[in-house]
Amino acid sequence: MENIQQKNSSTSYNVVTNEILEKLKAICGEKYVVNNDESCATYGSDETEDLFFKPEVIVKPSDANEISALLKLANSHFIPVTPRGPGTRLSGGALPVHGGIILSTERLTKIIDIDEKNLQCTVETGVINQHLRDAVEAKGLFYPPDPASRGSCFIGGNLAECSGGPKAVKYGVTKDYVLNCEVVLPTGEIIWTGANVLKNSTGYNLTQLMIGSEGT
Ligand SMILES: Cc1cc2nc3c(=O)[nH]c(=O)nc-3n(C[C@H](O)[C@H](O)[C@H](O)COP(=O)(O)OP(=O)(O)OC[C@H]3O[C@@H](n4cnc5c(N)ncnc54)[C@H](O)[C@@H]3O)c2cc1C
Repeated sequence: MENIQQKNSSTSYNVVTNEILEKLKAICGEKYVVNNDESCATYGSDETEDLFFKPEVIVKPSDANEISALLKLANSHFIPVTPRGPGTRLSGGALPVHGGIILSTERLTKIIDIDEKNLQCTVETGVINQHLRDAVEAKGLFYPPDPASRGSCFIGGNLAECSGGPKAVKYGVTKDYVLNCEVVLPTGEIIWTGANVLKNSTGYNLTQLMIGSEGT
């Protein structure tokens, strides 16, 4: 704890060593831990103009347990982690300004459930906004948040940015359509923030605390 506080005050993070790389590979699989120059260059920018920060490694976990193990490792070694979808954000949130690990959500693309009776769906963070719109439309339903980037941005990015488009005027933005999130905290602890019901008056509103948190 003392060690971490000291490092926090000077914000000098540790680098990703070969030993850490091996541990990341053991968590996510060798194929999903990428640190070649070309990939690091690609993941060093997003749609924000003229900004570039090169990550040391890109890691592509497949579920919350892998994300948890990755964050436990990074946290215990004081290595920065930047979550990232496709990087359509326009204000640099997905840029690894301190280097370290890019946690890419690109493998988390499942629409887990569309519950027509309760008008709810459960999706992974890497589902493209338009894919969800199409999937619910095929069942005669409608998902309103419609950022102009909907053909490429992910639902997780939409939550982190509380995105919305023209339909916001009548229907509201992303925060108005989220009941419950599975969240992996920086320590690696996995929590659920709410409940799959419209009326939930128990405790703090952690769901809305997470929405708009911009990757922090
Ligand atoms: C052409 C264009 C049009 C756009 N139109 C709109 C618009 O109409 N309305 C609008 O609101 N925005 C718009 N945007 C901005 C952008 O598309 C949105 O902010 C979108 O929600 C970002 O999603 P993303 O999946 O690309 O996220 P990314 O850019 O990959 O990440 C955005 C932020 O979210 C964080 N993040 C991503 N996933 C997670 C996760 N699973 N957990 C924690 N943090 C996470 C990242 O760290 C980063 O800080 C537009 C952008 C472009 C390029």
